[in-house]
Amino acid sequence: MAEKILIIGSGPAGLTAAIYAARADLEPMMIEGFARGGQLMITTDVENYPGFPDGIMGPDLMEQFRKQAERFGTRLVTADVTKVDFSQRPFKVWSGEDEYEAESVVISTGASARWLGIPGEEKLRGYGVSACATCDGFFFRDKEIAVVGGGDSAMEEALFLTKFASKVTIIHRRDEFRASKIMAQRALDHEKIEVIWDTVVEEVLGDNSVTGVKIRNRNTDEVTELKLDGLFIAIGHDPNTKIFEGQLELDEEGYIVAEGSRTSVAGVFAGGDVVDKVYRQAITAAGMGCAAALDAERWLESQETP
Ligand code: NAP
Repeated sequence: MAEKILIIGSGPAGLTAAIYAARADLEPMMIEGFARGGQLMITTDVENYPGFPDGIMGPDLMEQFRKQAERFGTRLVTADVTKVDFSQRPFKVWSGEDEYEAESVVISTGASARWLGIPGEEKLRGYGVSACATCDGFFFRDKEIAVVGGGDSAMEEALFLTKFASKVTIIHRRDEFRASKIMAQRALDHEKIEVIWDTVVEEVLGDNSVTGVKIRNRNTDEVTELKLDGLFIAIGHDPNTKIFEGQLELDEEGYIVAEGSRTSVAGVFAGGDVVDKVYRQAITAAGMGCAAALDAERWLESQETP
């Protein structure tokens, strides 16, 4: 028997969709992924999620979401989806050899921040290395930090971080920014922002927290150390949509094209960072997951009566 609703991905969007779908008696099945919980699992304190006035750790928040989804009967499968076929109904979803069928699908596979892949980066994630200024900027009051990247995200993060940091250094690998002129100019004009051009970060230094970075000038090959308290990586995000290529309409950056939560295939809905490249917040993702579940519920109802 086909599932009424199958949810792929278990960040705030997916788990909120599960809570709503479960409470609507749709008995949702969720394929949560091996890296369950999404990007909040690599965040430390979350202080901007309403309802937690004292803040909450990212992984703890996701555990609460998960418990709430399970409480109403969501069935969780800890596996990665490897293939989908949305060309006919019921839709088919595979995880390796396991095949699932579903009348409706909610996609909430999120996005992944791009990382540099240099020594020290992974170890110090959450301890001074971050890919989200909105999440972590607050912890760098009067500290010296750097932002890596030359696009709009890097400018936006750097400008946002000037609210807290005493100094923000943008480290960019070329001698001009990719960012829009207005954003780049705003950053260049800011008194707290300094730019190091033609330079790559080769190592993040520090044992328990970031103490600096090793940087290399690409013209001279000179390697120097820069003392820092934090390093923000802003070299872009990639939506997790590889498995949906050829199945759903995606935009040129790979995000799912959706109207509200409705994708290009009727009965397939999407919410959270896999759709949203603007807000990218836990609370907005949760809202989008709720909308996707409500839309799926209404769509299923519309299919029942001839
Ligand atoms: P992006 O435009 O792709 O820029 C990524 C930046 O990171 C580039 O400057 C790139 O350098 C650099 N980079 C990539 N890989 C790197 C590596 N391994 N090491 C060092 N540097 C690396 O990404 P984005 O800034 O996240 O923006 C994504 C999209 O969202 C864009 O269309 C942007 O306009 C939009 N956006 C808009 C706003 C806004 O308008 N408020 C805010 C954020 C994002 P190179 O330049 O050398 O390639």
